Amino acid sequence: MSTHLRWPGLEGKRALVTGGTRGIGRAVVEHLVRSGAKVVLTSRSAEQAEQVADEIRSQAGADADGDCVKGLALDLSQPDSAEEIVTGLAKESRADGGIPLLVLNAGTTRDGLLMRMSREDWNSVVTTNLTGAFLVTKALLPGMIRARSGRIVAVSSVVGRMGNPGQSNYAASKAGLEGFIRSVAREVASRGITANTVAPGFIDTDMTRALPEAAVDKLVPLIPLGRLGEVDDVAGAVAFLLSEAAAYITGEVLAVNGGMDM
Ligand code: NAP
Repeated sequence: MSTHLRWPGLEGKRALVTGGTRGIGRAVVEHLVRSGAKVVLTSRSAEQAEQVADEIRSQAGADADGDCVKGLALDLSQPDSAEEIVTGLAKESRADGGIPLLVLNAGTTRDGLLMRMSREDWNSVVTTNLTGAFLVTKALLPGMIRARSGRIVAVSSVVGRMGNPGQSNYAASKAGLEGFIRSVAREVASRGITANTVAPGFIDTDMTRALPEAAVDKLVPLIPLGRLGEVDDVAGAVAFLLSEAAAYITGEVLAVNGGMDM
């Protein structure tokens, strides 16, 4: 587990992080566990979710609460079952005051030029990245409203703002996510709930490792800070927006992209 700050106001709070098994999501889970939160992380595979939860629990050391992280199977490309699972989770947690921290991180790509993009590729990405965020937020929001407290952070992408050839489905889903979050922020601000977005640039994860090396070589000179981002660069921004330090920030999009779109 990398070294991170302990973010204020997260101690003992319950959190849900979608797509917490690797990359940015896993780093977010690690930051939250380090800050004393009790996290449910999700994966499409129950086994994978449990395994990563076990790893993070053992990294957290003997002092950590045995309950500090749990895995949950959730496939956002299957909206009917996903809705059932997150509604069930929200119900289960009601007696403990709900889940006040939500990170909408799970995301997928199916790249291709628009002229060749199938309806299936379009639907799959928009369903997972955007409809999935809608379903999870809708399930957890009543608990936050009841508690008059909550923090929602979605992970979009620089591509939602700048566009990218071959990613019209992904860019649409991420731009949509930002509009969704701003609307949620306005709907629930009076209930003590904030909703923000973190928009990463190009971060070194499985998602970007799938890019051809030549594409990465062309990208780096476009980044003023001269490198791809690390997962902790993004996780720190997410944890900040979940923390007490960000109490007066809502409806914001925080770019974490090394300056590439300034
Ligand atoms: P990653 O390494 O590919 O991890 C993606 C995560 O999402 C995994 O935990 C995966 O879980 C989960 N996931 C994928 N499909 C899912 C589905 N249908 N239902 C539920 N969960 C699913 O990606 P990453 O690079 O960390 O990206 C995390 C987020 O940041 C994504 O929203 C991505 O769009 C965004 N982002 C990434 C970059 C970048 O450069 N890496 C840049 C901008 C934005 P399982 O595989 O275990 O099911």
